Amino acid sequence: MEQDLLQRAYDPNAFYEHATALTTQLTKYLKTTLSSNIEQTLAFIDPEIELQFWRNFLNEGDPTTFTESILAHTNHIHDPRYMGHQVAAPAPLTALTGLLGSLLNNGMAIYEMGMAPTAMERIVTDTLCENIGWSHGFGGFLTSGGSLANLTALLAARKAIVEHDVWNLGYKQPLGIMVSEEAHYCVDRAARIMGLGEKGIVKIKANSNYSIDGSTLDAHYEMAATKGIKIFAIVGSAPSTATGAYDNLMAIADFAKRKKIWFHVDGAHGGAAIFSKKYNALLQGIEHADSVVIDGHKMMLMPAITTALLFQKASHAHASFRQKADYLLSEEEDWFNGGKRTFECTKTMMSLHWYALIKFYGTDLFAAYVDRQYDLARTFAEMLLAHPNFQLALLPQANIVCFRYHQDGASDEVLNAWNLSLRESLLQDGSFYVVQTKLKNVWYLRTTLMNPFTTKSHLVGLLAKILEHASAQNLFA
Ligand SMILES: *Cc1c(COP(=O)(O)O)cnc(C)c1O
Repeated sequence: MEQDLLQRAYDPNAFYEHATALTTQLTKYLKTTLSSNIEQTLAFIDPEIELQFWRNFLNEGDPTTFTESILAHTNHIHDPRYMGHQVAAPAPLTALTGLLGSLLNNGMAIYEMGMAPTAMERIVTDTLCENIGWSHGFGGFLTSGGSLANLTALLAARKAIVEHDVWNLGYKQPLGIMVSEEAHYCVDRAARIMGLGEKGIVKIKANSNYSIDGSTLDAHYEMAATKGIKIFAIVGSAPSTATGAYDNLMAIADFAKRKKIWFHVDGAHGGAAIFSKKYNALLQGIEHADSVVIDGHKMMLMPAITTALLFQKASHAHASFRQKADYLLSEEEDWFNGGKRTFECTKTMMSLHWYALIKFYGTDLFAAYVDRQYDLARTFAEMLLAHPNFQLALLPQANIVCFRYHQDGASDEVLNAWNLSLRESLLQDGSFYVVQTKLKNVWYLRTTLMNPFTTKSHLVGLLAKILEHASAQNLFA
């Protein structure tokens, strides 16, 4: 009995049948979603009803409808009307590398548990380091997400800058990092996990463009010093998540150099612009960073979750989880035993995605994508500026556009209520997917133009849809 069950679970012929059916279904799905040939990009279902659906499905659902049921109950990121959160519509090739990696399941912690993907990881991270503008001695690795990569980078920073051995002996004096108030919340979380406490997170006020105001850095540093807090790192966002505003990395680099502290760039979203001749000026100064994070599953067209953590000096890549002398001894010869450098023990064969995209399409693919999406955001901003019923939060630098529905004479309070209600009706409507964000106490609709096939006409459609809902809710004065 038991043996039969295992035989069935591993039957290669059944695998072939399922795989063929799945690829047929997904090919059809791609054709219809990429051309917006579906009614809704998201058919929103209340969580309790969704839970009940899958409880019922487990008991009495027809297994041959498994895939189509999932398709009907998920957000269609490949639909050009998807303009919400910052996750990639993966290039289909990377769904196949995902399949390959999942079946082979080499655990990656040590070299012989993933020879090919370990070598590929070295090649991919070297390529990223070169495109950052570092010349030699660099190194990095892939890890599970920007949040984990930021934490890992800050641990390396603490090891490199703080003389006291915190890793082994615990804290002797209060330490801190400096970061924009607009930075992704995971930086705050990382600092707290490291035991820096709230006081150890020195939040730099953003300027009117939502980026770090370079002229206030010294004052923030001195203020922390008078409280006995030793700052060991500063984080620049490239860009920050809510608004897509890039911090002035050159100003931060200068500051970090003067204070002899670590300079980390959180380029989870927009680090991909290193490949763009048109937009890499946004990253000016990144070449002075000690460490850089770039997510594959944001602007690099890959599925979740894969992140590059890159170090200007390869030896620092070994520092996060080890004693100083220990890692310095083995820095060079041991690039191939990934588990010593990553938080993960087992991790997925994520380098397959990166390597395959570069092998099949070249890094020009990343440049073409960034250029197109960043251009489109500028087009969208022009459309919003030209319309009396819309207000732009800031001129977009990346492919993130925050704006709100507007009426002359309406107070911020009224506009806040209207825009929240509009976002809710867009969610229920489902023909476009956008999100919302609060900036300086004002609610905005937020779009991230992630889909490589979103065009101006989709954006025209979105604005028409918002006005239609505004009219239905009598939001016209
Ligand atoms: C998305 C994002 C993160 C978090 O990355 P995950 O891969 O989702 O963990 C961190 N920083 C910035 C700027 C981001 O945009």
